[in-house]
Amino acid sequence: MCDIIWCKKEIDGKVCNTVNYLDPFNFWNWEGKIACAECGTVYYIYMIEGWMYKGPEEQPPGTEPDILPLYADKPLEGYKNYLPGTEGRTRPYLCLPRHIYLGQPDPVKFSVRGYPVRGQRPQPKSTGPLGSAGFKWPIEENSPELWEEFLERKKRGLVRDW
Ligand SMILES: [Zn+2]
Repeated sequence: MCDIIWCKKEIDGKVCNTVNYLDPFNFWNWEGKIACAECGTVYYIYMIEGWMYKGPEEQPPGTEPDILPLYADKPLEGYKNYLPGTEGRTRPYLCLPRHIYLGQPDPVKFSVRGYPVRGQRPQPKSTGPLGSAGFKWPIEENSPELWEEFLERKKRGLVRDW
């Protein structure tokens, strides 16, 4: 669920034309006032189970908004936008993705059976235009620490064939 308020307020003869994005989740059942990120016009909305029951209704100038939109853009002006957390215009995005989606690599050294996986560094130097190293990977030469770790794990019974 993601609803928008397309602001059509005319300011100095120019239509605001800003698309204010509410959020998923928070606005499923919600009643309140929300401000346009560009011109600050406050709109009243009443949403019931994701359905816009009332609104958006423009409120008189000077009305305090309950909340700001999460993100806003101007699709008629080359997608000029306000990202989440722009002071006084949009609210910060507090639902950060889980750490595994934040772009940090999570290197896997051993397979589920405990054997070293093939994609370890350092990889062999270029092996031609197609760059295929096949299945040969001298682990003892290339990654002696990994080989040591593997032998250690083997001793502790963490390596199995099935
Ligand atoms: Zn506006």
